[in-house]
Amino acid sequence: MPRPLQAVIDMGALASNHALAKRLAPGARAFATIKADAYGHGTRRVERALAGADGFAVCEIEQAAALRTLARSARRDRPVLLLEGCFCTRDLLLCALEGITTVVHDIAQVEMLERTRLDPAVDVFVKMNSGMNRLGFAPSRFGAAVERLQALPAVRSITLMTHFASADEPEGIAAQMAVFEAHAAAFPGLPRSLANSAALLRYPESHADWVRPGLMLYGISPFADRDAASLGLQPAMRLESEVIAVQALVAGDRVGYAGTFRADGPMRVGIVACGYADGYPRHAPTGTPVLVDGQRSRLLGRVSMDMLAVDLTALPAAGVGCPVVLWGGALPAEEVATAAGTIAYELLCALAPRVPVREQAAGEGSMPGAEAD
Ligand SMILES: *Cc1c(COP(=O)(O)O)cnc(C)c1O
Repeated sequence: MPRPLQAVIDMGALASNHALAKRLAPGARAFATIKADAYGHGTRRVERALAGADGFAVCEIEQAAALRTLARSARRDRPVLLLEGCFCTRDLLLCALEGITTVVHDIAQVEMLERTRLDPAVDVFVKMNSGMNRLGFAPSRFGAAVERLQALPAVRSITLMTHFASADEPEGIAAQMAVFEAHAAAFPGLPRSLANSAALLRYPESHADWVRPGLMLYGISPFADRDAASLGLQPAMRLESEVIAVQALVAGDRVGYAGTFRADGPMRVGIVACGYADGYPRHAPTGTPVLVDGQRSRLLGRVSMDMLAVDLTALPAAGVGCPVVLWGGALPAEEVATAAGTIAYELLCALAPRVPVREQAAGEGSMPGAEAD
């Protein structure tokens, strides 16, 4: 029998979350953001689940080229956006050859376009740093960069782009929107792309021509004050395993490396086949929620490489072979992430390659609450 740990990817949930993104931004096209192996869900799998997507956004040019090849073979000529742009002339030539849409965020990338003869010409998204101070042209330099790109035969189309730092925070997007609009106003004819998941969900004024949802496609809420279910999202990944051993403790007994958890009375402890080498956060403390046999329980002591311990004291019927959900289904990854001092993005992306993935077809096992058992 294989080790009982597996990640279950709900193909119907992916499609449903994508449909919700499209409904919420009816006037925009959407780049489904599938960087980082589709936030741990598998690029090819998500590409299949979202067969009707308008386009895909990724970070690596090899992945962008593979997605363009797939699109061509399926006769769906949809764009693929390279989010950090080209790192060298070779990348740029590949963009032209494969029809990859590339971000242009600094002057070196403009110069690369000026130096390189491209046939066919490329579609570019020129990025403004409207306040996040990560990638993009300073607002005062943005117009000049756009004009240089407009003059180039190597450039076929230009879309104006920015990215929000705090769309999921109370601060919102108003200040960055104002900067962007003020400096994009000189180019009224050019399409625009601003919104990540949080902005798509909360700020319709940011939708413009292309939205770029990522996290919401995977059924995770970007907001601390709204859960995914209340937004109409369905979690797409469930990480599940089983209890593989049970220990009976008496007062004073300790659990795991360094014995950081100490029993203050008789307890039953279940050992679960899942550890930090599987992508479970090692810093999750005692008390982090875990579902055992559909019931809420808690993590005990330190997470090991291949195992972790859970409290079975209140679950007398739970024993070896009992199903465990680490996140997903009735246990939102957001909650586990918060307990572990991180964000759901990091949990999903950290899913280790050694964890087998099972695809759950749309409709299969999707009875409400069925995930909880
Ligand atoms: C990752 C990313 C997104 C998607 O963000 P989510 O918060 O996951 O929706 C959109 N745009 C850019 C530029 C990104 O890097």
